[in-house]
Amino acid sequence: MKITGIKSQVVSIPLVTTFKTALRSIDQIENIIVTVLTDSGQVGFGSAAPVAVITGETVSSIIGGIEHIGDSLSGMEIADWENIFQRLNSCIIGNMSAKAAVDMAIYDLLAKSLDIPLYRLLGGMTCNVETDITVSIDTPEKMIAESKERLGRGFDTLKIKVGGDPELDIRRLELIQEAVGSETRIRIDANQGWSAKEAVQVGRELERRGVVIELMEQPVPARDFEGMRYVRDNVAFPVYADESVFSPRDALELIGMNAVDGLNIKLMKCGGIYNGLKIASIAETAGIPCMIGSMMECHISVSAAAHLAASRTVIDKYDLDAPLFCSTNPASGGISYQGSRVCFSDDPGLGIEAIIMQE
Ligand code: MG
Repeated sequence: MKITGIKSQVVSIPLVTTFKTALRSIDQIENIIVTVLTDSGQVGFGSAAPVAVITGETVSSIIGGIEHIGDSLSGMEIADWENIFQRLNSCIIGNMSAKAAVDMAIYDLLAKSLDIPLYRLLGGMTCNVETDITVSIDTPEKMIAESKERLGRGFDTLKIKVGGDPELDIRRLELIQEAVGSETRIRIDANQGWSAKEAVQVGRELERRGVVIELMEQPVPARDFEGMRYVRDNVAFPVYADESVFSPRDALELIGMNAVDGLNIKLMKCGGIYNGLKIASIAETAGIPCMIGSMMECHISVSAAAHLAASRTVIDKYDLDAPLFCSTNPASGGISYQGSRVCFSDDPGLGIEAIIMQE
């Protein structure tokens, strides 16, 4: 089965509610859907989410990147997948989300060629995947209302966005925990919004006030690895890297510096499953757990992330709620949700049957 071309199309998806972090506030997303065509007629699906403030990619840069990658991979045999992924990663520098979309479509094709779901190709269903759900940064009152609404829908783990004024963040978290009770698991994500000293101040004050959090994600700016280590050394909660870890090389560096307790793998940062597996293996070797996360992405790419997560035991935390924020699904098939539970079909590949939304 040979690659004959790669098509991309843009879809706009309104969100069911505004999504607010320390970095941005959005009501609608645009994703780029990729179809890898082959001479057998079989097709592979993938998608990319442009998040300029995190990955530096835009809709048009992703489309351009995919076009370039398509030219480079054209004519390659799917069965030669190591060579495909080597070329995919070397034919263009950066462009991680464009790479991720093509990478997952190749994995989709590979699993389809074996007539098995992708998680089986990657290692089998080793874990139940239960996602947390995000609460946007806002006034404490709105965040409490959102938290309660999420719990009412069957979620037991909240990912609370913080990273504003440290005093207000402490207040937000204290009030939320008071409102939801201590049996609710709380993860916090500052999206680079604090300095290292502020993060330590928040962590210690939460501890003093008896506010229990499971982990603190990306307290400081992405490239401040020293800051990550300082926070890790000075707060009791585990510190996870998100925007700090794009590549397997970043993972090695952060782990080598003892700067993290865990890593958040996102396909849009690392360039897809091929590199995601490398990060997972580095973390596993170092004895560090991983979370799988996503940007604001549609079902297609989150299905790919879920298949990866289900197949690796070192990935034991799941932040795959993005499709629940999308008011429409551009594809049929793929993962589905029962409350917090991510459900997989037995269909081959990613299980995506068709792209049903055109623009
Ligand atoms: Mg994050």
